[in-house]
Amino acid sequence: MTDHRPSAPAASPLVSAALALCRSLGFEAGEAPLSSLTFHPEIRAVCEENRCRNYSASWACPPAVGTLEECRERCLRYGHFLLFSRAYALEDSWDFQGMGEAHRDFQLQTDRLDEALGALGLKEPPLILSNEGCIRCRRCTWPDAPCRFPEKLHPSLEGFGFLVSELAAAAGLAYRAKNGVAYFGAILLPGEAGTGTAE
Ligand code: SF4
Repeated sequence: MTDHRPSAPAASPLVSAALALCRSLGFEAGEAPLSSLTFHPEIRAVCEENRCRNYSASWACPPAVGTLEECRERCLRYGHFLLFSRAYALEDSWDFQGMGEAHRDFQLQTDRLDEALGALGLKEPPLILSNEGCIRCRRCTWPDAPCRFPEKLHPSLEGFGFLVSELAAAAGLAYRAKNGVAYFGAILLPGEAGTGTAE
């Protein structure tokens, strides 16, 4: 019997190359349609509660990343949104030392990925977002002086108002790691202009 279901559109060569690069570096990766992106004011409200102590403490987090509308406009200048993740084993859910080490490693691996993306010959630099802000410097220069490493600045996914579990579902990635923690980042690649969803 003939299958008349519409087939999924083929990924662009650029997206295929970027996903392959992510996977070669040990990340899980998938593309989330730009039309699936939602910029949640309630996630921003959680940032403002400052339970993570990153609010108003870094160039990678609100308010330094701009308003939610500015984040939305910044993302929708790109043509493709790729989500990548890496899972880390933990002793148990109280293994805070393991979580800290995993987060540091994720940031290092994200830097490697950022450097490797240069080989794709992009017409403009990608925007790379990462879980939970920046931990590169012992003391951030915010708000007194510019970021020391603006070319390596990977703003917070949560600070942009993203619900990471929602992104994971849109990109076809597992949100929870078995017996551990998963960290996530995103790559915005140039392409045709798209439209996201602002609440
Ligand atoms: S690289 Fe340093 S100065 Fe820049 S946001 Fe990160 S911690 Fe702050």
